[in-house]
Amino acid sequence: MKKIVSLFASIALGAVVMSSPAFAADKGTVGIAMPTKSSARWIDDGNNIVKQLQAAGYDTDLQYGDDDIPNQLSQIENMVTKGDKVLVIAAIDGTTLSDVLKQAHDAGIKVISYDRLIRNSPFVDYYATFDNFKVGVLQADSIVDKLGLKDGKGPFNIELFGGSPDDNNAYFFYNGAMSVLKPYIDSKKLIVRSGQMGMDKVGTLRWDPATAQARMDNLLSAYYTDAKVNAVLSPYDGLSIGIISSLKGVGYGTKDMPMPIISGQDAEIPSVKSILAGEQYSTIFKDTRELAKVTVGMVNALMEGKTPEVNDTKTYNNGVKVVPSYLLNPVLVTKDNVQKVLVDSGYYKADQLK
Ligand code: BGC
Repeated sequence: MKKIVSLFASIALGAVVMSSPAFAADKGTVGIAMPTKSSARWIDDGNNIVKQLQAAGYDTDLQYGDDDIPNQLSQIENMVTKGDKVLVIAAIDGTTLSDVLKQAHDAGIKVISYDRLIRNSPFVDYYATFDNFKVGVLQADSIVDKLGLKDGKGPFNIELFGGSPDDNNAYFFYNGAMSVLKPYIDSKKLIVRSGQMGMDKVGTLRWDPATAQARMDNLLSAYYTDAKVNAVLSPYDGLSIGIISSLKGVGYGTKDMPMPIISGQDAEIPSVKSILAGEQYSTIFKDTRELAKVTVGMVNALMEGKTPEVNDTKTYNNGVKVVPSYLLNPVLVTKDNVQKVLVDSGYYKADQLK
């Protein structure tokens, strides 16, 4: 009998010893739902979060939704079913996650809205993002400065593009930009020949470059056969690329027909190259390493039962509650500061921009 007991004891001990390293290292899994791989910024976001979470001792479950809403929904449902401890979500459509977030909440899972605010749910615990209104302000500032509007120059023709209407950020970018442009539009120093203004008219579903290109084609053929467009407000580098190809298609980008002043966002490599080549004028750099750092800080705090650090408790009402937020600072990039902001900071290697 003694022998049998000790045999059982040693089997049990063996099982404990064998499985204990896994338990010891296991702080639990963090589910990360990203919208798409079609834009480099989200790939960087995913990689940065995974790297930093793993360094902090978490397992990670990173999923990309291919810009397909049901796909992202089922990825998040899986994370809940598997018992991930915290979810970090950059939503494709910020209004469609209410049910799955209720399930997460019922299972005791915390939710961090990443970069894009998830709307219409009380179960969004924290929001890590950039100052999205300021992004729009900076985009418009770059256009105003380059056109020389403050020196009284003008009038100039401008067309406006907005981001995806299902992305809360798109409204912040647009409103931020319009806070700068509207006075010039009112005083007729900026003229929107198409008359198309407001997110319902200028939004670009799913941030799709081809949609922006097609709209620019239409604008050019309908309103610019006897005039030139001098500036285009574009909220995202991918859209700027579509807009630029449309403009090139009708002859812009030469000495006689210079490219309009075009903004952008994300400092994606093809657009930084375009800026260096004198086509796109500006972009907005959002350091995804910093956003990952803030997010991982939030995960850590939540897992340790502490309160994550926030710096904004007023701005981001998701329709149900104001979500406590941490806002990072976006930075305007033109040809003049590419080296300093993007290369010297180690974000890109000089070679990548050649
Ligand atoms: C992000 C931008 C990005 C856009 C398109 C927005 O939610 O904040 O950085 O350009 O989505 O991916």
